[in-house]
Amino acid sequence: MEELVPVVCPWCSVGCRLYIVSVNGHPRKIEWDYDHPNTPNRGKLCPKGVASYQFTISPDRLKKPLIKRNGKFEEVSWEEAIRYVAQKFKEIIEENGPEALAFLGSERCSLEDNYVLQKLARALGTNNVEFAGRLCQSSNFVARSKVFGSPAQTNPFDDIVKSKVILVWGYNPAETNPVLFGQYFEKALDNGAKMIVVDPIKTKTAKFADIHLQPYPGTDLAVALAMLNHIIKNELYDKKFVEERTDNFEELAKSVEEYTPEWAEKVSGVPAEMIKRAAELLATGGNATIVLNEGVNQHANGTMTALAIANLIAITGNIGKEGVFSGVIPGAHCGLCAAVPGVNCAQLPGPVPLNEENVKKFSELWGFEVPREPGLHYQAIFKAMAEGKVKGIFIMGQNPARSLANSSLIEEALEKAFVVVSDIFPTETTKFADVILPAASWYEKTGTVITQNRRVMRSFRAIKPPGEAKPDWEILVMLARELGVGEYFNYSSVDDILREINRAIPALKGATPERLNSNLEGCFYPCPDEESETPRLFLKGFPTKTGRAQLTPVKWVQPGEVPDEEYPLWLTNFRQVGHFHTGTMSMRSKSLIKRWPESFLMINSEDAKALGIRDGDRVRVETRRGSLVVRAMVTDRIRKGVVAMPWHWGVNFLTKDDAIDEFSKMPELKAVACRVTKEVVE
Ligand code: SF4
Repeated sequence: MEELVPVVCPWCSVGCRLYIVSVNGHPRKIEWDYDHPNTPNRGKLCPKGVASYQFTISPDRLKKPLIKRNGKFEEVSWEEAIRYVAQKFKEIIEENGPEALAFLGSERCSLEDNYVLQKLARALGTNNVEFAGRLCQSSNFVARSKVFGSPAQTNPFDDIVKSKVILVWGYNPAETNPVLFGQYFEKALDNGAKMIVVDPIKTKTAKFADIHLQPYPGTDLAVALAMLNHIIKNELYDKKFVEERTDNFEELAKSVEEYTPEWAEKVSGVPAEMIKRAAELLATGGNATIVLNEGVNQHANGTMTALAIANLIAITGNIGKEGVFSGVIPGAHCGLCAAVPGVNCAQLPGPVPLNEENVKKFSELWGFEVPREPGLHYQAIFKAMAEGKVKGIFIMGQNPARSLANSSLIEEALEKAFVVVSDIFPTETTKFADVILPAASWYEKTGTVITQNRRVMRSFRAIKPPGEAKPDWEILVMLARELGVGEYFNYSSVDDILREINRAIPALKGATPERLNSNLEGCFYPCPDEESETPRLFLKGFPTKTGRAQLTPVKWVQPGEVPDEEYPLWLTNFRQVGHFHTGTMSMRSKSLIKRWPESFLMINSEDAKALGIRDGDRVRVETRRGSLVVRAMVTDRIRKGVVAMPWHWGVNFLTKDDAIDEFSKMPELKAVACRVTKEVVE
């Protein structure tokens, strides 16, 4: 029987709507020219969206549960696999306490999958529950929570088109979120908007810029401090907004007095005059869209940079009204699907802080005592594993062996613990697993997604899962029953879980299964009842103690590592349009791997000449943690002194895990010192 099933694209947080045509549960083609006026893509898809289901039919799919015995994986029944995992987890809890277990959720999974995962961790007595958002957007999350009382992105995408100025910081939407760029950013530029891009690389986005600032990696903070300094010193800020809707302006002004554009030029390499021009355009050019991404967040000074940018947003009055837009738009599929239900060592569903009041509320709602002690953050979980303190881990749809900073140390940690992985493919991480559980992919299950502009939508099961693969929430419920906590997981459908989420999270009360199943456009949360939604936030006030934005003093903090004589170049990394995260899905999509087949190193032509490197040569890239060999791409799209690689092929083992942001616990993933040498082929 032929079916046309509505799904949401699983590759990035824009959340484009498309349709899968399937026959008896087998995919045949996709359709995307269904123009729902209020879905983000309006009939458009990028190359990843077009390649959508190719990975689901890869012969590499995991189809049966596997237990490792004598170093080899053996196929077993679901009953045996779940019994084995439960037995091991019970032994760990009995001998070492529940804190010796950890759970990793995933931005690749649905709201319901992640809700059940964090609830299971807490039912067993641990708050050791995290997801890769810690490695992606946590710096901005901390900064916006401090300044605006909430990390949420504020406006619908349509407001980008109404903006007169667009500031894009450490973010390349033309490759990371191509449909968003084409449908909204380019339309704003067509309407006459001016664009400022801050990025060491002349990206596809930067080609559209009126002003392109190219700081050394990790020195974006110096540029942001200098923009604050210039705007305040020259009284270019929005005085009415500052007066009526912010606190602490004097403290902020004092904190940036010494950070002149001339000082920032010495630190970042960006000419002072260009910093001044960018600051003046932002402050006087009219309503602005201000977006940032991993180029800001993934640094050991990421929170301070994000704080400086949040202050810039506030003092220029670009928040809390129509026609402006600010926040992050991750390349990840659904960070909010994990962040909102509290897949976080210090937050409960909402997300709300893990405090006495919220522990009491959730203990009453769930019927068991929620643990009070905060758990370990992502990187700390692996450190504790390496030290033998965390002895068992359940990893749902994550590949930390490739994605974490200094990932060779993570491999040592994984070798020491009892590791359970539920995933759709073998990965670098499943090599270290004791048990592998085959999961259904995004198109093989029904689930709820929250796109980055807070639109809650349903994606429906369009394809039959291969072999015995199951949705993650079903796997977790089976495990909960075997662990003796099944009474708290009485779900027989994904709708049952969403109904509980409606009760647990007031902002999602109105995102009911009935509403989302019948309305493909979904609704903007907060949606406190089935009739309402909130496309724009902070129109009247901010969720802070005073109801006003809390301007926050900022200061210069060095990035995690800087070049020296031994390692004289800056190494950074970036996303490509054709790949997703560590490539487990995109590298198994035929059309994507054909067009984006391998890694490479971007190097400036002057640096290449000095090192005797020509375009296409094989080069060794070496940091204090390790080295790899790739082809050189000699180009003036990258500034002198900086080299860069796409991160999908695994570069994080070169990065620095012991330089961690004080506030967000983000490791230094984007600025490390390296040397490059031409690889001599014998
Ligand atoms: Fe999918 Fe994002 Fe491309 Fe849209 S922009 S088709 S959500 S990858």
